[in-house]
Amino acid sequence: MQPTGRLHIGNYLGALKNFVELQNSGKYQCYFFLADLHALTEGPEPKALAANIVNLTADYLAAGLDPKKSVIYQQSQIPAHSELAWVLNTVTPMGELERMTQYKDKSARQAANVNAGLLTYPVLMAADIVLYDAEFIPVGEDQLQHLELARTVARKFNARFGGTFVEPKGLLTQTPRVMSLKDPAKKMSKSDPDGCLFMDDSPEDIKRKLARAVTDSDGAILYDPEKKPGLSNLLEIYGAFVGKDPHAVAIDFEGKQYSDLKSGLAELIAQHFEKFRAKKTALLAKPAGMKKVLTSGSKRAGIIATKKMTEVKKKVGY
Ligand code: ADP
Repeated sequence: MQPTGRLHIGNYLGALKNFVELQNSGKYQCYFFLADLHALTEGPEPKALAANIVNLTADYLAAGLDPKKSVIYQQSQIPAHSELAWVLNTVTPMGELERMTQYKDKSARQAANVNAGLLTYPVLMAADIVLYDAEFIPVGEDQLQHLELARTVARKFNARFGGTFVEPKGLLTQTPRVMSLKDPAKKMSKSDPDGCLFMDDSPEDIKRKLARAVTDSDGAILYDPEKKPGLSNLLEIYGAFVGKDPHAVAIDFEGKQYSDLKSGLAELIAQHFEKFRAKKTALLAKPAGMKKVLTSGSKRAGIIATKKMTEVKKKVGY
């Protein structure tokens, strides 16, 4: 995840919740990092970036990522990410980058800062992944296009220089695309805070935002993403928090008012993140502890990344 602001429930239900579940399943050796090199593409103020790095570390730890079980690190502490990105740039077709949806969206959104990093973002992401021979990448649906590109880049490198990288596969959750509360045709995104429920929102804020969430005027609680996108989004979110199919949630609320669903959901979310909020507050009171986590995780990750980078250098002829 990028340290670019507060995490919303789209980030949580599409990715972070899955991070914690994968870690706790005991089936994988997990690597989770803060994509602070990627964050530069948005042109953050240095102070804001620094604060967001601390904030995202607190989010990770408060949500349940555990440095005893997973390697938790900071991208910018490991030079191999940038080094490999450069090498991969030279096997990545320009046309593939230009057709990326995120590049087009972000270029439109930040028209005054269409920097080259926005274009080459997916190459750095490919480097982030293949440095660790990562097999599975838990992401939201919007990142699948970038993952496909990472597979292409890995394949091209392997074809030219011999088998070096694993082709990664994406792992989606039950809710890979949580929609905005304000405009259910758009995905929930940090760039549009009004449509977001943030993980650390107070119960009052959650209630207020959900009360205003866009639905429709026919009044029937039915799961129908095409005809009732706003309501269906709320049913999907509800379902994800209770581990139920959205159709089943609709049946539970049959005959009730939209306001009942909205207040039920507000209570559910506020309760779900109660411990998270408390833990996050406690973590933020002691930032030195988090810094240690990142430094020691980055050391561990750095050993693996450097080894891979040494192999790459040999393969290309250095
Ligand atoms: P944002 O789009 O809010 O800036 P990021 O690009 O930092 O979020 O995404 C971090 C992770 O959260 C990625 O895996 C992304 O796919 C996932 N994600 C972001 N928005 C959503 C959403 N609305 N629904 C599901 N997953 C999402």
